[in-house]
Amino acid sequence: MSKERLDKVLANMGYGTRKEVKSLVRSGVVLVNGNKVKDFSMHVEPEKDIIEVDGEILQYKKYIYVMLNKPQGVISATEDDYDETVVDILPDEYRIFMPSPVGRLDKDTEGLLILTNDGELNHLLLSPKRHVPKKYFAKVQGVVTEDDVNKFKKGVVLDDGYKTMPAELTILKSDEISEIELVIYEGKYHQVKRMFEAVGKKVIYLKRIEMGPLKLDENLKLGESRELTEEEVELLY
Ligand code: URA
Repeated sequence: MSKERLDKVLANMGYGTRKEVKSLVRSGVVLVNGNKVKDFSMHVEPEKDIIEVDGEILQYKKYIYVMLNKPQGVISATEDDYDETVVDILPDEYRIFMPSPVGRLDKDTEGLLILTNDGELNHLLLSPKRHVPKKYFAKVQGVVTEDDVNKFKKGVVLDDGYKTMPAELTILKSDEISEIELVIYEGKYHQVKRMFEAVGKKVIYLKRIEMGPLKLDENLKLGESRELTEEEVELLY
């Protein structure tokens, strides 16, 4: 790990804004490897150096794992010239770890998106071999029937000729605008929308509610995020 400025490290760890941590260092309560420091611009190796604030040893964290309730209108990327991204809408305290979204949700899809700077987890969750289940809630134009449930169970052929893996469709409301839940075990481009197109219907609202063992936290409003708990991270591995 490269060296970083002490004030940046302290701000990242939640000891206040850059301005606040500068005065914290000046006040003499910060020690690096046992030595009192007053120079907030000094460079430290956060994973190696022992940094103490007011007698408390700082536990530097390398990885961040965030759950976002993605709103519509933002794109699943780290940066973009035109659109706001899912990273843009995270609080600074998460953004500084430079997380990336684990997979993609369409611009008009809402719901559960995990962001992390842990490349291994990103890979594990997206690996086509692992078939991590993803559960969606959708509103669909057209009457969804048991026939569709059976077709999804067997796999449907998408517009490019790909036959989908068995998926579990649950009808919540069968009407001109139907409401459904769908669990899929793969992640092709626009998969849910294209599966419904394959049975002559159109998804008009889509929200991801689960990914593997993780459920979208109902306390998160659209656009809000929180860190995963240690237990949640362990579940994902
Ligand atoms: N399937 C879609 O069609 N869109 C998404 O955003 C996710 C799954």
